[in-house]
Amino acid sequence: MYREAVGQFDRVAAVMGLDANVADRLRVPQKSTVVSFPFRHDTYNKVETIFGYRVQHLTTMGPTKGGIRYAPDVDLGEVTALAMLMTWKCSIVGVPFGGAKGGVRIDPMKLSRAELQRVTRRFTMEIINVIGPDTDIPAPDLGTNEQVMAWLMDTYSQHVGHAVPAVVTGKPPALGGSVARREATGRGLIFLVPQAANVVDLNPAEATVAIHGFGNVGLYAAIAADQAGLKVVAVSDISGGVYNPDGLDVAAAAKWVDENRVLAGYPDADAIEGEEVFSLDVDILIPAAVQGVIHKGNADDVKARLVIEGANNPTTLEADDMLRERGVFIVPDILANAGGVTVSYFEWVQDVQKYFWTENEVVARLREIMTRAFEDVHSIAIAENVDMRTAALIKGIRRVADAKLVRGVFP
Ligand code: NAD
Repeated sequence: MYREAVGQFDRVAAVMGLDANVADRLRVPQKSTVVSFPFRHDTYNKVETIFGYRVQHLTTMGPTKGGIRYAPDVDLGEVTALAMLMTWKCSIVGVPFGGAKGGVRIDPMKLSRAELQRVTRRFTMEIINVIGPDTDIPAPDLGTNEQVMAWLMDTYSQHVGHAVPAVVTGKPPALGGSVARREATGRGLIFLVPQAANVVDLNPAEATVAIHGFGNVGLYAAIAADQAGLKVVAVSDISGGVYNPDGLDVAAAAKWVDENRVLAGYPDADAIEGEEVFSLDVDILIPAAVQGVIHKGNADDVKARLVIEGANNPTTLEADDMLRERGVFIVPDILANAGGVTVSYFEWVQDVQKYFWTENEVVARLREIMTRAFEDVHSIAIAENVDMRTAALIKGIRRVADAKLVRGVFP
């Protein structure tokens, strides 16, 4: 995944004619922390060694920012690639952060609540010297949630001796979390539908949607799509998918997952294999689970005219080319899912100022930033005659490169 991220960066750096010294500097992260620590299971005698990572790609323009994922196969390369993508993402929406990402190599679905809390607190202690409200601010990602962020904030605060809400974003509102952060990534994606639909001459009022992933991003994308009048016909998660060509009852599916953890067994739609969502006859496809799910083996089966990437890196480079050759319009991850980091930035600003905004203020500012970012990227795509992913990277890299050049080299 890291090789793909660097390959993509090199391709765009060449298109932009980026200064070779700056390009060299941006290819590698500024700081990487790899830790291993003991984790005691609830069955008291079992102690497992767990690996954790925190990678900070760019510290030029402010603190670093990025999620922490819990997944059984997460590794340093994946986290490094995602940290780099975070840098471009922050730059595209104009928030003053560099990119970071963290990971703990564990399957959260197999942990009890007490185990999840112990892993989180110990991992936080392992990285405590490299995080902080002015240095590096974690957030939720795959396999982590508001509760995990609350434990992280508590552990950090216990360590320094006073409450530090701004050390993390995506925490519960009771602890200084922002209203509307939970919904931000999914909602941000759906804000872009009218502009993207316009490009491919699609009427959003008649559009059908399939979503891969029904966690934070997929669930709130489904809810926002439903509220916007789009017809959500299929959603899937790690347990499989559900399909109803007449439109799903999104609220009922959400309630089912809330009560049963996964979609499997949901009674009011046809059960399908999770992978089937990619080949359904829909207008809009939203991958919102894990990376690499649209690949050369299934890219030609995609019937959607619009792919809006909720997950990070859901489309391999080969599949990206195949889709574009067939005229599919792709709104790339670093633009499409930037609503999460945008409201994370709002949350950090509110925590630092100790002054909280209303939901209307948060949502209106999110909409303004997302739609402006789309417009900017689309204008670059037209002016430079490139695809949206290349255009988004150009926008992201350009601002970072400018900042690097004016800061100069120390000493
Ligand atoms: P989550 O853990 O809340 O939900 C993940 C969803 O994907 C769940 O429905 C899960 O069942 C499903 N899933 C997990 N592994 C799968 C697999 N191997 N195959 C099929 N389905 C699988 O995670 P999330 O926060 O919604 O993140 C999803 C993606 O969006 C990730 O790529 C993440 O990096 C990206 N993202 C998240 C945010 C955010 O604010 N949470 C912001 C930007 C990007």
